[in-house]
Amino acid sequence: MGSCRLCPRMCGADREKGEKGYCGQGAHMRIARASLHAWEEPCISGTGGSGTVFFCGCPLGCVICQNAAISGRKAPGREVAPGELAEVCLYLQEAGAHNINLVTAVHFVPEVVRSLAIAVRRGLTIPIVYNTSGYENVETLRMLDGLVDIYLADCKYFSPVLSQRISRAPDYFTVCMEAVAEMIRQTGDPVFAGGLDAAAYNASLEDLTEEADYAGALMERGTIVRHLMLPGQLSDSLRVVDELMSRFGDHFYLSLMNQYTPMPLIADQTDLNRRVSEEEYEKLVDHAIAAGLKNGFFQGEGTAEESFIPPFDGTILGI
Ligand code: SF4
Repeated sequence: MGSCRLCPRMCGADREKGEKGYCGQGAHMRIARASLHAWEEPCISGTGGSGTVFFCGCPLGCVICQNAAISGRKAPGREVAPGELAEVCLYLQEAGAHNINLVTAVHFVPEVVRSLAIAVRRGLTIPIVYNTSGYENVETLRMLDGLVDIYLADCKYFSPVLSQRISRAPDYFTVCMEAVAEMIRQTGDPVFAGGLDAAAYNASLEDLTEEADYAGALMERGTIVRHLMLPGQLSDSLRVVDELMSRFGDHFYLSLMNQYTPMPLIADQTDLNRRVSEEEYEKLVDHAIAAGLKNGFFQGEGTAEESFIPPFDGTILGI
């Protein structure tokens, strides 16, 4: 962190001397929330919840950020030492979490690695999920090789014009595709509880009804790529789906999301200041299925509710 190059911004901030880089964070981990979270994909949240740790700050800084309350420079949160984060993980495991879900941790990876090593020594056995914007350096991901069981990565946009406009990152798609390739290399093909592979898992879901509590298997290893559809950007979404499927085939799960919620920062951008229509989302899902997608998660109607955004009220269980 003396000349930080952890994320693709590679801004070179001397965080050891107190400088803050593009991500707005100094040398030590800060977390905004740690709790059980029910709204990830069903094979992650299960019925007991995912033990989610939200880190403060973010190197991507999208103007549409759904977690804007904690991703900015002045994000409220608490500084934690590696031993304390280990305690949080062990507490969440004890509370029934199916996994530990690290949300936007890229700018703290060296300390996260130390924390996980301590937690594992003290008895952490549940899978580790690394939940990311997808804007990641392969070199940094390699520090997590063997520690992370499941990658939950966004692939937000194809167009450099769109990624520049929303995230000031014209290289987003290219960087994200290389990152996803590294994630899949590390995790291998998806594996679920009971040793189910993707085909067996998909078949096992056919008997589940929509109304019932989720009774399917939990993911134990693998990579899920999420694409949050944006209003008016169907053609970009179609390209994202095509590129992912053509490069990674059945070696990952694709989660197509319709829960986009307009945030105050884009109130003057009329095209983004609305929710995704049912018609737009259906066209995207139909396209993915027609293109042969077998490993997919889709969302039902009514998911674009603010209640999917966790209450960032300073809750940190375990310390
Ligand atoms: S993690 Fe932060 S300080 Fe490091 S390169 Fe990225 S933006 Fe800069």
